[in-house]
Amino acid sequence: MEPFIPQLVYIEPRAIEYPLGKELKDKFEKMGIEIRETTSHNQVRNIPGDTENQKYRNAKSTLVVGVRKTLKFDTSKPSAEYAIPLATGCMGHCHYCYLQTTMGDKPYIRTYVNIEEIFEQAEKYIREREPEITRFEAACTSDIVGLDHLTHSLKKAIEFIGETTLGRLRFVTKYHYVDHLLDAKHNGNTRFRFSLNSNYVIKNFEPGTSPFEKRIEAAGKVAKANYPLGFILAPLYRHSEWEQGYLELFERLEATLPSYAIKDLTFELIQHRFTKTAKKIIEKRYPKTKLEMDESKRKYKWGKYGRGKYVYQNEEADELREKVEGYIKHYFPQSKIEYFT
Ligand code: SF4
Repeated sequence: MEPFIPQLVYIEPRAIEYPLGKELKDKFEKMGIEIRETTSHNQVRNIPGDTENQKYRNAKSTLVVGVRKTLKFDTSKPSAEYAIPLATGCMGHCHYCYLQTTMGDKPYIRTYVNIEEIFEQAEKYIREREPEITRFEAACTSDIVGLDHLTHSLKKAIEFIGETTLGRLRFVTKYHYVDHLLDAKHNGNTRFRFSLNSNYVIKNFEPGTSPFEKRIEAAGKVAKANYPLGFILAPLYRHSEWEQGYLELFERLEATLPSYAIKDLTFELIQHRFTKTAKKIIEKRYPKTKLEMDESKRKYKWGKYGRGKYVYQNEEADELREKVEGYIKHYFPQSKIEYFT
């Protein structure tokens, strides 16, 4: 599997006033990629494709190089105070991706080149909260690692936060392209999280992302680079022989992670869920999906503003939780399970 290379690039005119914008333009020109100018990312409407699904697929191979105008960061409670805006969108095709419902009308990938201004803003937020720690999440609207081999914005963000006393950075990824991040001066201020799952789930529901073995191998490299490390196991999914599938995951992790790294591991556990809206989108975008989304087999969990979701029935959820938490306690007894939801 090769790292992401866009098929089509849009560049906003102001973007080339910034060093990263200029660098990216030169890079893509040298690579022979088609570059179009656009005055605003909202004008990126002419993505090629005959059908809506084709357009969607092409959009996921399209990169918009732009300037982040609003420097007000969104909040990202409860795991961080702010979302640091480095990019939006993702090249992956996970059937259950949250971006399909949150950013459905803008599936293209967008990277921001005014990173110095973004860091200045982050610094202001850190100062406002002194002497408290301020945490920034870098993967709220994208899988930033999947893109960073092209931009190195994440690497710069890691080093910027590494220089602060009260700033912390976190992000999560399903990609293994971490080599350029291993020598970043993170100073222990960044928690590098991988989204992991059983081999079955990754193979069947996460096309366009890194395979099982590669992610585990990458987690080993990140641990050896002394980053605080964490795992999001999501969605925990009851496929046939799921117990064995998750056992294999923990066995492989234990065999790969160095013993000194496992004292400070975190685990976040999220059972599979879907909303009616998400189900409709998934069936449209990935009509052959094997993802089980039968409302009659699930429990309806009421949410805010009447937007409920379908989760596993209590007994099934409890069994899933007990099994996976049991594995964690067995293989990584010093780690912290942050939540199961
Ligand atoms: Fe969505 Fe993450 Fe998959 Fe990208 S890697 S498609 S952001 S779930």
